[in-house]
Amino acid sequence: MPLYESQTIKIYNSLSGEKETFKPINDGYVGMYVCGPTVYSNVHLGNVRTFMSFDVIFRYLKHLGYKVRFVRNITDAGHLENDADEGEDRIAKKARLEAIEPMEVVQRYTVDFHNILNKFNFLPPSIEPTATGHIIEQIEIIKSIIDNGLAYEVNGSVYFDVHKYNETKAYGILSKRKLEDLIHNTRALDGQSDKKNPQDFALWKRAEPQHIMRWPSPWSDGFPGWHLECTAMSTKYLGEQFDIHGGGMDLKFPHHECEIAQAQACNGQSPVNYWMHANMLIMNGKKMAKSTGNYILPNEIFSGDNPHITKAYAPSVARFFMLQAHYRSILDFTNNGLLASEKGFYRLMDAINLLNDLKTSDSSTFNVSEWQQKCYDAMNDDFNTPILIATLFDAAKFINQVKDGSATVSAEDLELLKQTFDIFVFDVLGLVNVAKESSGSDQLSAAVEILINLRKEARQNKDFALSDKIRDELAEAGIQLKDSREGTTFTTN
Ligand code: AMP
Ligand code: ZN
Repeated sequence: MPLYESQTIKIYNSLSGEKETFKPINDGYVGMYVCGPTVYSNVHLGNVRTFMSFDVIFRYLKHLGYKVRFVRNITDAGHLENDADEGEDRIAKKARLEAIEPMEVVQRYTVDFHNILNKFNFLPPSIEPTATGHIIEQIEIIKSIIDNGLAYEVNGSVYFDVHKYNETKAYGILSKRKLEDLIHNTRALDGQSDKKNPQDFALWKRAEPQHIMRWPSPWSDGFPGWHLECTAMSTKYLGEQFDIHGGGMDLKFPHHECEIAQAQACNGQSPVNYWMHANMLIMNGKKMAKSTGNYILPNEIFSGDNPHITKAYAPSVARFFMLQAHYRSILDFTNNGLLASEKGFYRLMDAINLLNDLKTSDSSTFNVSEWQQKCYDAMNDDFNTPILIATLFDAAKFINQVKDGSATVSAEDLELLKQTFDIFVFDVLGLVNVAKESSGSDQLSAAVEILINLRKEARQNKDFALSDKIRDELAEAGIQLKDSREGTTFTTN
């Protein structure tokens, strides 16, 4: 029997504003779509946080035995500088500034994105489609929306008719906005625009002569609107209706609202059963964002090379820091927060690393199977990783008590403890049991220092067999000693 039959997940659905029992459309299968990055610059830690939330959700669903098709796109065209269908394409702009091809920009930052996610131990999605690879599908959707009377063409551009759509459906259903309020809050058109109403959004834009990212279409040589790609790719790979759609909170409006409208206008049904939105990573009280300069890059965390932090942190420490907050809570990035997480992370790893040395007894003083179910309960409750981590620490405390003799564990329970840590710490949270050294650890340095001094003593005593043994065995463990006139130093692989 697959685990998902005994574990019931509740998901907070942004559409209903409530936690709902998760029931996939097809028993045993989950279709999940997450809006991917616009690859015009390096991903910052805020972007990583949103993608990490869905990496953990993907991991947990897989652990429960679901066959998950997880689609996360790459936006490589159509995302303009602002949300009002104006400004330059972000990728084209970067290409112009750097005097390179737009596709060189796309390649550079897609590679960076993958490298960063690998460092954070992400699982790759099942499909990673690109907007430019799906121009034909986007054109087909525009044609059907026009046929259904919900889009209009002006001067080679096509716009979605929000007012007409709102006569029969609710534009604003996801972000809880009313069209009347939107009308009230937007400036009137300045006469330059082709749109009938300022709330309408572009499905296709005619390219100006200088716009190099362009494709032929029935309306003009141009490019698709940003919201359209996600409708095209999610429908193509997951169907007209699928289970989960995710992204950062800031995408709810207009991006996801427009996705719902497009899918409704094209297929006549609501595309997604569970809308999930991850909250923002903030720094200095403001949203982390490339455009304002208020951001930190993952590589700066790993090197310590940023004024906001006092030292380097291992990727798993940064991962642990982010998962100590629930995905729907705002998370404030601070050096103190990272320092505290680093301590906590190594405390957890130290407890896990004790598991193989524990002595077993006839019975246990801790109810391990009840604890295991608590771990599941935490994740079943809208993927509550901070509660899961707190629960893991309950067992870490128990492990330390067994070690110092104030508690006992049976052989069977010890096995269950090991399995459960493997599942939740490594498979679900995606943490890596790294030696502390990758963050410039003090403890590892101290330990190697002791061995260096022992080797020095051995050499002074002319016990070269022992001094060579220390050097060789350290090398086997990936630690190289280097002798110089100033003394001995070490490097790690
Ligand atoms: P973009 O490349 O700008 O389309 O953003 C990629 C993803 O990162 C989207 O899901 C955004 O919602 C998300 N995102 C952007 N800034 C932040 C932030 N400060 N905290 C969390 N997620 C963010
Ligand atoms: Zn999207």
